[in-house]
Amino acid sequence: MNNPFPLSLDNKRYQTWNYYLQTTFHTKVAKVPINAYFTCPNRDGTKGIGGCTFCSGQGSGDFPINPVKDLLLQFEQRKEVMEHKWPNCQKMVYFQAYTNTYAPLETLKQLYQPFVEKEDVIGICIGTRSDCLSQECIDYLAEIANKKEVWVELGLQTIHDTTSKQINRCSTYQEFEEAVQKLAKTNIKICVHIINGLPNETKDMMLETVKTLAKLPIHALKIHMLHIIDGSLMAKDYKQNPWPLLTLEEYIDVVIEQLEYLPQHIILQRLTGDGMEDILLAPMWTKKKTIVLNEIDKEMVRRNTYQGKKVKK
Ligand code: SF4
Repeated sequence: MNNPFPLSLDNKRYQTWNYYLQTTFHTKVAKVPINAYFTCPNRDGTKGIGGCTFCSGQGSGDFPINPVKDLLLQFEQRKEVMEHKWPNCQKMVYFQAYTNTYAPLETLKQLYQPFVEKEDVIGICIGTRSDCLSQECIDYLAEIANKKEVWVELGLQTIHDTTSKQINRCSTYQEFEEAVQKLAKTNIKICVHIINGLPNETKDMMLETVKTLAKLPIHALKIHMLHIIDGSLMAKDYKQNPWPLLTLEEYIDVVIEQLEYLPQHIILQRLTGDGMEDILLAPMWTKKKTIVLNEIDKEMVRRNTYQGKKVKK
């Protein structure tokens, strides 16, 4: 069956991150994650304690704690690993773990500036919460974005405040939308993280999250399945009283329909997450990332569908 989706280099039916990077930078670009040892207002008592109930306590990063505190050294070490895999690749630095704008502007400048000046870094990606983006921080990031590509990655997880309360996000959809509108006035690129399979969320609620995001001026989306990670508050409840999580088939079904409601210009940075395998309690099918992605591809062909199919013109 011919692929009806135009923005693809590898027969995918949605716009991949790799497609965006290849067509923008004309080479392989690797994202190099570092841990700047921030905390988060949802952990230190400013907005909440204990953190989001799904958070492992390692700040939602998908790599183990790095004992090296020096960020440039961390970058060099991880860069080597990437270069082994993709010789001569270009690099973006990814401030991944915790809330990477949760500090006074002067501190942020000290952390980011070495990477702004580093010649072999072509872009800076910053994971954060929408309630931790002051206007002065946005203005500073917009200045950087005049020199290098800047991505702000906002953890939203769901548009539904009832769920957000239940998982102790301590942040509302309104705060998120305000942050998006502020960022959209700049040249900063916006990526949003969402989670499918959160407690008590129906398929319609998950679709509603994507339909709402589809109307916002965002550039990219990361879709994850809920991981029950040992050490999280959710894991404690789950161990005592396990509840049914989405099966692989249910997840694929939801993701495909979400893709159908997403306009084609929105880049899919991820369709499944990388959990830390040794502390993943459930669902175990998420460990097989390649299988999940392949099954999504196959099912899209079977349904003869593609990203944006259900977007009203
Ligand atoms: S997921 Fe992010 S916002 Fe939530 S507790 Fe962990 S670091 Fe904080």
